[in-house]
Amino acid sequence: MDADVLIIGAGAAGLAAGRALADAGKRVMLLEARDRIGGRVWTDHTFARVPVERGAEFIHGARGVTWEWVRHAGLTTALAERWTGRRILDETERLAGVELLDRPDMRRLLTLDEEIAAYEGDDISFAEWLTMQGFSPLAAHVADLRTAHAACAMPAALSMHALRAEARAGYDNGGDFRILEGYDRVMAAIADGLDVRLATPVEVIRWSRRGVEAGTVYGTFRAPVAIVTLPLAALQAGVVRFEPALPLEKTNAIAALAMAPAMKILFRFDEPFWDESLTFLSLRDPAPVWWTVRPGEPLLTALLTGPRAAHLSARGLEGAVEGGLQSLRLAFGDEPRRRLVDWQVINWSADPWTRGGYSSTPPGAYSARTVLAAPCGALHFAGEATVTDDNPATVHGALRSGMRAATEILDVRSG
Ligand SMILES: Cc1cc2nc3c(=O)[nH]c(=O)nc-3n(C[C@H](O)[C@H](O)[C@H](O)COP(=O)(O)OP(=O)(O)OC[C@H]3O[C@@H](n4cnc5c(N)ncnc54)[C@H](O)[C@@H]3O)c2cc1C
Repeated sequence: MDADVLIIGAGAAGLAAGRALADAGKRVMLLEARDRIGGRVWTDHTFARVPVERGAEFIHGARGVTWEWVRHAGLTTALAERWTGRRILDETERLAGVELLDRPDMRRLLTLDEEIAAYEGDDISFAEWLTMQGFSPLAAHVADLRTAHAACAMPAALSMHALRAEARAGYDNGGDFRILEGYDRVMAAIADGLDVRLATPVEVIRWSRRGVEAGTVYGTFRAPVAIVTLPLAALQAGVVRFEPALPLEKTNAIAALAMAPAMKILFRFDEPFWDESLTFLSLRDPAPVWWTVRPGEPLLTALLTGPRAAHLSARGLEGAVEGGLQSLRLAFGDEPRRRLVDWQVINWSADPWTRGGYSSTPPGAYSARTVLAAPCGALHFAGEATVTDDNPATVHGALRSGMRAATEILDVRSG
């Protein structure tokens, strides 16, 4: 045997599982397709004077497990003020910060999670629920954008039961924090000392009750058990062949969940042309969700999810940049175009090892995450898509899923 436990993928889930198992004295080996660790956590340290995030950016909330690693690694964080720094613009209205909170329809958005947590009906879509709530058109637009960003799906494709479970868990309360040294520093801290085989894509997983073999171009690795942390869209696309095939219940769960496209646009300008208090911008299509990276830095980031990301992706890299400038025009006129120095477009759906943004739960599919998370034979499953109510689709959810899979293995082996 090459290890006590093989872990497929060295993103947040794989690294957290590896850390927990290694700390418990197990020999672990992580097989990672890319030539770097971190998966969807990917910091760029060269694009600007400060680190910029090509993937995950915020720690949502003040009590996720990520904080333990932030403290362990001695990292610093900054709160990105969610509402008072926000500007909301459309063709007819321009609202900023405090003004926003003066409007009852907008103030209601502050307690949106509480309203969702109190929902008691059938598993309808978030879009249907929004319509029933009688939000003003602008408030509904902002709620729609926030959810599209947080859940990587359009409101019509989101289960109210899944949103309710997240709202009840309450992980998202407490603000959005950025790690000033870069999110990748958290991944590096967790990975310290682990045996990670980079640039080693797994092509086939042969599994039985007796053990697991992972076939790669560099040969076959064997262990009594394995943890699979492949992104949902990679599982859906059959990037790795399972022999024998996974049970029908598992493949149905994989098919029932969704992982829509996601894209980030990073813009660097010669200097900032907005006031220092700006944090988030809610604009109109094609690229309506933007934020500043740090006060005083001439950087703006857009996150596009679902059909918006697919639409700009079809326009190519230059088309995506044009789309970004088009939306920013509503807020800043010609300034962005005149002052743009450099840009990056990160199309996560075109990335062969991710193939989308992050998972979401369509109406009726709430139980699929639990089925996906369940072990089968010598195979255990982790990753953001396997998280149930304690924040799927996030880094801290992925970390916790890795720790959960490690505990499953340790419990069985010591039991
Ligand atoms: C644009 C974007 C913005 C985001 N913003 C945030 C945010 O602000 N806050 C937040 O909490 N979350 C955010 N997320 C979500 C967060 O990044 C993910 O939920 C989390 O990083 C997923 O971790 P994971 O370990 O489950 O999956 P991954 O990080 O995808 O790890 C899976 C690993 O498996 C590897 N792999 C794939 N195929 C193979 C193979 N055949 N063989 C071996 N290895 C393979 C991959 O290379 C990868 O390293 C964002 C995601 C995106 C895309």
